[in-house]
Amino acid sequence: MSSQQSVSAATGRAPLNRLLARLAVRGAAALMILNGAAGQAAAAPSGSAAATARVRPEIYAPVTLQTDVSSLSAPERQMIGLFIEAAKVMDGLFWQQAYGDRDTLLTSLKDPAARQFAEFNYGPWDRLDRDLPFVAGVGPKPEGARFYPPDMTKEEFEAARLDGKDSLYTVIERDARGALKVVPYHERWSRELGQAADYVEQASRLAADPGLKHYLELRAQALRTDDYQPSDLAWLDMKQNRLDFVVGAIETYEDKLFGYKAAYEAYVLIKDLEWSARLARYASLLPGLQKGLPVADKYKAEMPGTDSDLNAYDAVYYAGHCNAGSKTIAINLPNDEEVQLRKGSRRVQLKNAVRAKFDKIMVPIAGELIAADQIKHVTFDAFFADVMFHEIAHGLGIKNTVDGRGTVREALKELDGGLEEQKADVLGLYMITKLNERGEVTGALEDYYVTFLAGIIRSVRWGATEAHARANMVTFNYFAEAGAFSRDAATGRYRVDVPATRKAIDNLSTLILTLQGNGDYVGVKALSASKGVVGPQLQQDLERLAARNIPVDVVFNQGTAVLGLQ
Ligand code: ZN
Repeated sequence: MSSQQSVSAATGRAPLNRLLARLAVRGAAALMILNGAAGQAAAAPSGSAAATARVRPEIYAPVTLQTDVSSLSAPERQMIGLFIEAAKVMDGLFWQQAYGDRDTLLTSLKDPAARQFAEFNYGPWDRLDRDLPFVAGVGPKPEGARFYPPDMTKEEFEAARLDGKDSLYTVIERDARGALKVVPYHERWSRELGQAADYVEQASRLAADPGLKHYLELRAQALRTDDYQPSDLAWLDMKQNRLDFVVGAIETYEDKLFGYKAAYEAYVLIKDLEWSARLARYASLLPGLQKGLPVADKYKAEMPGTDSDLNAYDAVYYAGHCNAGSKTIAINLPNDEEVQLRKGSRRVQLKNAVRAKFDKIMVPIAGELIAADQIKHVTFDAFFADVMFHEIAHGLGIKNTVDGRGTVREALKELDGGLEEQKADVLGLYMITKLNERGEVTGALEDYYVTFLAGIIRSVRWGATEAHARANMVTFNYFAEAGAFSRDAATGRYRVDVPATRKAIDNLSTLILTLQGNGDYVGVKALSASKGVVGPQLQQDLERLAARNIPVDVVFNQGTAVLGLQ
């Protein structure tokens, strides 16, 4: 799955097993700090069926997607060019899945702003405003996009007895007599997929890393056959690759009718070797950190899981679904549950994409709401560290209740996800604090703490209506009551107190770990009810922000030219 949406943005219409797989994946919520789309939709005023959206390309801040390619070998540079060519094919296929013919739409739009907005949205509907049409006469977006005939009802689909109708990799069309028929992707788009597979095969022949070579060979086959499982397994097996290419029909969010059909997309990725080495180092320190947690021994008796398959990459090209509307900044793949059971999954943080959103969205928010002399402590390095330590901190604490009743997840039911994300936030800060004392993490604690506070405010920008945003508000209000930060009534800005924050981190860690260990459903419910709310003061501050026209998301200027590969 990807976290352009927060976890809870899953449509609820997806088949149960895929939905459960999404909920089981816990990597995404920290990054909702930078993703407001889901909450924004929830907070938007409800419109009538005939509502239309405004043409508003300016909500997307343009960013040039770059990274340092100077250390890449000549074959690696060639491979990136081939990946980008294959990605462009995915882009065209996603247009067909989401709307239909791209060029027909774009040439019909005479207003350049409307044309640009259609390109950002891969169609004439505003993805960040409930898919409302912004082109006169196009009507509402079909719930099933172009995966099904636009006039097909759910009842007709459900009544049809057709093999493969609910497959991830088939489209539903009408035959000459108007009856529904199933067409596999690899037949429907055989020409385009063959072309993309050729590019991937050419790249495989240039690959020096055997794991990457093997994966690319199998991925080319997958594009030609719709059988992704062998390549998903090979993707998890490869560990030493510097380049990566995520390509194919992957996520099912575009099918809002049933959540069955996978949308084409691609990411061209270059591993951040420095961060990857640091992550491996930090993960190795987890057992010692677990012992030091500020909680009674029985609440830290388990050996922490060192989830080592967590990586930082720079993305150099986005295409198709992941490039439409809100930009994905972390991916957790593969989605195939059988593969997950056999080999787990891989979490990939897209560092330069996180940076783009940090620069364009978080910095202006901090500029409005953080005390003037502390704004300099809102830094990208601290932000990325907060995000990465959140991910590592999921490994701390315990998974089973101390009374032997079973798992924490079972005991806390629907409240488990929010509390677990809150735990990762707070214990992430705990890790940073401890490792900073030992010199393993450098820089001023003030950077990490002030940046964290700005991130929390950002995450509730569109309201705290879902579980993870509510959990963020619990942390915010708990910290406020502990004096970790204060608000200056004259300026309306927030100031962090470092010693008080350290104490609040310890105390809130104790509270969360105890609630989890006791499987205390009632206690968690009470905490969420009392502290998981946006107070009137913060609400006013958020309204002040809304008037500032801070971008909602970013759009990438990307390709071989901006990378200096041409
Ligand atoms: Zn998380």
